[in-house]
Amino acid sequence: MRSIAKILFPVNVPEPFDYVVPQGMRVARGDFVFAPIGKQMKLGVVWELGTAESESIPGRKLKEIAERKNCRGLNVGMLKFVDWTAKYNCASLGMVLRMVLRSYKALDPSPIVTLYQPSTTVRLAGLSPARKRVLDLEGVWPARAADIAKLASVSASVVKTMAGVSGLLEQITAPLDPPFDVPNPDYDERKFALTPKQIAAGKVLSDLVAEQSFNIALLDGVTGSGKTEVYLEAAAQALRQGGQVLILVPEIALTQAGLRRFTERFDAEPAQWHSAMGEAARRRTWREVAQGRAKLVVGARSALYLPYADLQLIVVDEEHDNSYKQDEGVIYNARDMSVVKAKLSGASIVLASATPSLESLTNARTGRYVHVILPERPGSAVMPEIELVDLKEDPLPSGKFLSQPLVDGVKAALDQGDQAMLYLNRRGYAPLIICRACGGKLKSPDTDSWLVEHRRTGRAMCHHTGFSMPMPRACPECKVEDSLHAVGPGVERVAEEAAILFPDARIEVLSSDTAGNPERIRARMEAMAAGDIDIMVGTQMVVKGHNFPHLTFVGVVDGDLGLAGGDLRAGERTYQTLVQVAGRAGRAEKPGRALIQTHMPEHEALEALADGDREGFIAAELAMRELLGLPPYGKLAAVIISAPDANKADEFARKFLAKAPRAEGIEIMGPSEAPIAILRGRHRRRLLIKAEPSVNLSAYMNSWKSRLRPPNKTKLQIDIDPQGFM
Ligand SMILES: [Zn+2]
Repeated sequence: MRSIAKILFPVNVPEPFDYVVPQGMRVARGDFVFAPIGKQMKLGVVWELGTAESESIPGRKLKEIAERKNCRGLNVGMLKFVDWTAKYNCASLGMVLRMVLRSYKALDPSPIVTLYQPSTTVRLAGLSPARKRVLDLEGVWPARAADIAKLASVSASVVKTMAGVSGLLEQITAPLDPPFDVPNPDYDERKFALTPKQIAAGKVLSDLVAEQSFNIALLDGVTGSGKTEVYLEAAAQALRQGGQVLILVPEIALTQAGLRRFTERFDAEPAQWHSAMGEAARRRTWREVAQGRAKLVVGARSALYLPYADLQLIVVDEEHDNSYKQDEGVIYNARDMSVVKAKLSGASIVLASATPSLESLTNARTGRYVHVILPERPGSAVMPEIELVDLKEDPLPSGKFLSQPLVDGVKAALDQGDQAMLYLNRRGYAPLIICRACGGKLKSPDTDSWLVEHRRTGRAMCHHTGFSMPMPRACPECKVEDSLHAVGPGVERVAEEAAILFPDARIEVLSSDTAGNPERIRARMEAMAAGDIDIMVGTQMVVKGHNFPHLTFVGVVDGDLGLAGGDLRAGERTYQTLVQVAGRAGRAEKPGRALIQTHMPEHEALEALADGDREGFIAAELAMRELLGLPPYGKLAAVIISAPDANKADEFARKFLAKAPRAEGIEIMGPSEAPIAILRGRHRRRLLIKAEPSVNLSAYMNSWKSRLRPPNKTKLQIDIDPQGFM
């Protein structure tokens, strides 16, 4: 009797396929194999092993596995995690496997190559300029001839002759992808002086890690209280035990400046994982993690799907952050999946935040999570004083966006020689472009949204799809020239206003348009920290984890912005963001001040902020959620149906609704038009499903989904625990 293997391919398939294991081949679960699929030979993973009963089905002829790849396979824990992720999020099993297999070359050992480095007996006198340029390179050695040639702008033959008779360079043979340095868990206490409270909190966390079994802690500490230093103590414990540590951070924090803290603490650069990495860096991290040699990994959400050999601790920094939710392809929340991953790995997990999500906070308060609280900022730094500016009482001058109290606040800071920050989460110059002649608005061609003016680049842009075009001179509708005019503020416009008010101030804009890559973000952050910028005008980008010792004033241009949408978490998110923004001010010895411009000073989130009443806000928000049966008192799922044709979208939405399984404790709302009813030319409809806490909502949605397949070109997406309502 021949044995059968179920092979899962990293493509959009709901389940693995059966193959025959050829005579003489031995495979185990998790092994990588090549097998024919259609006319192609594809790499897949042995998902399950079985006997040949299914082969007896008449007319069904199974193909054979072609080859077992000679490398370490995925471990069973990883297979379980892939399975769990797919089931929980109602996603395709193959697509989840694809998140794991992000680098095929990483399955092979690193190629051994010839590298060059300066020899120890270099004479610098009488060198040609080209040779001198080579020897002047810093921080690249040892390197390949081609890379050296490129960096020094010389030909590769220059490098090779330098290694030849002239003996300026020496040749070594080494792996192309070097292993990562081993982090040192112990440190010089004079360099990192922790406060007694930080030491105590660090001990609670490291004791949990020492148990070497699954447990969860919420590290809840105000901005600037030293959460990072505390969770790094837990990381040190896991490293002492020889285990691997994953620190998840919001993508934006993955700058060199952000990474430096980890490098300094452990005297070794961590392995990194994020979307901006090149293929070579990706391959290196994947391979070293799989072999268990990379001990400390710092990454964005997808780092959770690396094949860890011995994971002992996961830290989710800024656990409330929106960017942990992936909302394209496999829709999942990396924070929630981290908890699953820790459980399947028997590891500890630390969720850290100054403004924890209400879900995590509830779990901590009901005793499901260990609650570690860091109540104060170290040293003499205090939380800034936060006040609201009621725009009904202090109206904005026509065409302006900074009220007098905000202007006075900036002025006072600058007069003292300090820095100010103006926060507005709107990129570009103006969110709306209106024609004075016909009243028309400049609209995205394939999406239900207005174009945003970007004056710096002279373009009009759709922020949902990235579509952009040069700013037209005439209105596309009525053709009247010079009739288009900007409505509302974006960061560029606020910076323009500030420049008129403070002509001598050095003003910089920080948004993804002006500083899209990590290097440029780092440069601006360092300039700010060094005091080379007087006023920083920024979007969400300024919010996360940077220390600006001379920043004493923060002005929030539009405190209502986050409250506008129909999002159930709008109040919570606005509160979290504004706490983080305000928390930028007054980090060192100087006290800080934050002013928030609003039309809704009576909104509970803003009131709580001004009163410094976190407990009051949490209580009010939780009471509202309990009343409405929303998380954490109930569960939510969203269904998004989209089609190129509006009627097709409506028709499938109706049919899908009719197939809903009957069940207790389930309430279905919709279908209705999605808030962005047309996106990239596709018409979108939404259903919202609300369930009581006892319902297994994922199982319910999986069973519903299996009853009806969308027709060609119609797409069905399920979003478990949706964060936004786009
Ligand atoms: Zn017009």
